[in-house]
Amino acid sequence: MSLRKLLVANRGEIAVRVMRTAKAMGIATVAVYSDADARALHVEVADEAWPIGPAPARESYLRIDAILEAAKKSGADAIHPGYGFLSENAEFADACVNAGIIFVGPPASAIRAMGSKSAAKALMEKASVPLVPGYHGTDQDPTLLAREADRIGYPVLIKASAGGGGKGMKVVNVAGEFADALASAQREAKGAFGDDRVLIEKYLTRPRHIEVQVFADTHGNAVYLHERDCSIQRRHQKVVEEAPAPGLPPERRAAMGKAAVDAAKAVGYVGAGTVEFIAEGDGFFFMEMNTRLQVEHPVTEAITGQDLVEWQLRVARGEPLPLTQEQIPLQGAAIEVRLYAEDPQRDFLPQVGRLDHLRLPVDVPGVRVDAGVRAGDSVSIHYDPMIAKIIAAGTDRAEAVGRLAAALAATEVVGLATNRTFLAAIAGHPAFAAADLDTGFIARHAADLLPMPEPADDRTLALAALSILLEEARVSAAAADPADPFSPWGLAPGWRLNRAAHVDLTFSDQGARIAVRAHYRPNGFVLDLPGGPLPVEGTREADGTLAARLAGVRLKARVVRSGMKLTVFAGGTERAIDFVDPRVASIDATGTAGRLVAPMPGTVIRIAVEDGQEVTKGTALVVVEAMKMEHTVTAPRDGRVAKLHFSVGDLVDEGAELLVLEELN
Ligand code: ADP
Repeated sequence: MSLRKLLVANRGEIAVRVMRTAKAMGIATVAVYSDADARALHVEVADEAWPIGPAPARESYLRIDAILEAAKKSGADAIHPGYGFLSENAEFADACVNAGIIFVGPPASAIRAMGSKSAAKALMEKASVPLVPGYHGTDQDPTLLAREADRIGYPVLIKASAGGGGKGMKVVNVAGEFADALASAQREAKGAFGDDRVLIEKYLTRPRHIEVQVFADTHGNAVYLHERDCSIQRRHQKVVEEAPAPGLPPERRAAMGKAAVDAAKAVGYVGAGTVEFIAEGDGFFFMEMNTRLQVEHPVTEAITGQDLVEWQLRVARGEPLPLTQEQIPLQGAAIEVRLYAEDPQRDFLPQVGRLDHLRLPVDVPGVRVDAGVRAGDSVSIHYDPMIAKIIAAGTDRAEAVGRLAAALAATEVVGLATNRTFLAAIAGHPAFAAADLDTGFIARHAADLLPMPEPADDRTLALAALSILLEEARVSAAAADPADPFSPWGLAPGWRLNRAAHVDLTFSDQGARIAVRAHYRPNGFVLDLPGGPLPVEGTREADGTLAARLAGVRLKARVVRSGMKLTVFAGGTERAIDFVDPRVASIDATGTAGRLVAPMPGTVIRIAVEDGQEVTKGTALVVVEAMKMEHTVTAPRDGRVAKLHFSVGDLVDEGAELLVLEELN
């Protein structure tokens, strides 16, 4: 079968990742994109890209007709569905085949067979794959279900048959709570999947989630590429995934591998799939099969040295599996974390907004980063808020853990809250180092993983103050020597703000005001901090890092300013505080009325002013295009443009501050 041009019916990191392998194999790549993704990374990476509709997924990435049309028009001979969206949609798989296009995935019949958890379990029972004690029958009479729960023995877990993503799942501890829990699971299942059928399982209290990567070709071969441990979960959703599963004896690995291959064979599987087991003690039980490539496949790639997308494409064009079972390596260990735009301090609320600053640990040894976004991109309300996957590999687990911690310490995101600190706390936890893993890990260690925010410490304040002082010095030196505006980066000798012996800086930290007096010294400053005076000096290097000395201790840091917010990255920690600029404090005090913000989400198409330009009331400042209409933001009063936050072509979210207008004095 010829496979020369591949359309990837997805977005973000998985689309980028699939295209990377296709390119390496000499296969041309076609992206599809929604209106929100016109400038997305996956569009840029593809050889060509076709628009498929508006931002909401059901009007674009979930539209079978639009995707098939793009495939036909672009001349693609195959479609890779990625994960999520249409990846487990049997109708889509059928539609591809009917249109004469290769679907890079299993046959529609296998997707259907595994689509219902209950039906899949019935099938697995026949194939002698071990199951958790439970009920997965078609009779959904509530009295019968309650009786089954009694028979299984409490605690039990009610699951939506059509389920996914932990929706419609309820733990029931005692019989008296069963009826209510059932009703609630059914409501959730109906709402999420349009199907309120449920199954009941024995609820294991300290289980591990261990899943097996399987692969099958069209020649009757099927193998397993070992397992992944995905026990670190929050609300039944994976947070950390690793391979191999720590402490799994080889004979159990082989037994689970065999059970997974049997499961795949039982449904005539082809391509990449994952058989999920729940394991407790020596037992392991089938949960479900995911009939696609999974988010966490890179850890398997790391320990086997294989490219699973390459395997998928080879199988799709009719080749046999590249390796036999005995030839599949298992070397070292690898751990993946998912960096999400979500706020752990606010119950992991997903965040939307612009990635004002983004540094991913691409140069940490042994670390792979799969990202679908770059600095300046926005995380939108329409899609999954994952920023990147960070995968650390090592010759053993301890090395992988160390590298993961280093990678997370080197990760910087400004513009929206992320789970970075939370992930770093997991990576640095002694129980994680000891591989004491089960699905209760996060709940059990919540106090360590989600500490209450403490007031900004002196180091944070010192670095923030130093960054402001260096910036003022640079601006002032540039003004003094306009011929060489970028020199010196360091502190101009003898430079004085207001020519005074000291300057007062004010910060705001979670509502509290903190005054820091900086006394000028020949090579730096002495800062009066809450904890006492501290001598500081430093320079800003060409790449933006701050080479600081705090009381003689050398330290590399980075302070990223975004509006009035300063995010201080130092020693693997991050802390944001607000700078209260005396020059704009009066404007700030007027609240949003004085801020120049984007009226709606859109693209900056023109910037009519320059940094530092004096403008009069009514002057056009920035033009934002949204929904095919232009909106001109004009100066609400006379002033001077102090800071332009965006450039032409940037996407802005509603309410994003476009620029700062200083008062003229
Ligand atoms: P979904 O398809 O919604 O993700 P799964 O069936 O894959 O649901 O289960 C998700 C997670 O829920 C598992 O990884 C595990 O942590 C937990 N879980 C599932 N079944 C059980 C069980 N019988 N006992 C304890 N925990 C379970």
